[in-house]
Amino acid sequence: MKFHPSEELLVNYVSGQLNAALAVVVGTHIDMCPRCRAVVHDIEVHLATRELHQTSPVAEPQLTAMLESILSSEAPAMPERPALQEHVVLESKSFKVPPSLGRHAARMGPWSKMPGGLWRSPLELSAEERMYLIYMQENAKLPEHTHRGNEATLVIDGVFHDEHDEYRDGDFIFLDSDQHHTPHTADESCLTLAFLDAPLHFTSGVARLLNPFSSLFFR
Ligand SMILES: [Zn+2]
Repeated sequence: MKFHPSEELLVNYVSGQLNAALAVVVGTHIDMCPRCRAVVHDIEVHLATRELHQTSPVAEPQLTAMLESILSSEAPAMPERPALQEHVVLESKSFKVPPSLGRHAARMGPWSKMPGGLWRSPLELSAEERMYLIYMQENAKLPEHTHRGNEATLVIDGVFHDEHDEYRDGDFIFLDSDQHHTPHTADESCLTLAFLDAPLHFTSGVARLLNPFSSLFFR
């Protein structure tokens, strides 16, 4: 795993400032990444200490010890939580998914096949917030595109490439509106979780005319 969310994103995740879709992408990465779990733990302690310090006369070391013990204790079971699904299935393939994603599996729509060896399944978090599971079969290619907003992609299983690098299980890629890329797979397929702030804008060749690919992410 080479690519992680920035510390700023992790702070916003901990303090509940990410939109629901981005929070699922970042949370799923954290499930898969011991390094970011440790960073998140430090951020939680830091934010909680700062918060409590303003209202409580307790000395800092005591406070930190207290918080450590609260944070490390088992969270109580929450019966109203939807059943956790451990796998998603596409045709004859089954993929293990981390809990932050599996918790929302009941909201996953059906898979649809797109041109170019791609499948997608929408995951609707609310009327306004939707993201997609995107499956790229071997030797699939998404046209080069930019986006007006941010794009967050997390590799759940497999490997994909673009002109900058290659991305494997757990890798988190966050691109802003200035960055172009052309994701593709080689001899391995890839399942990703993707969230976009705004529609894709294709920049190359015939895809510019087609743009049905923008329906990969937006209906
Ligand atoms: Zn990480």
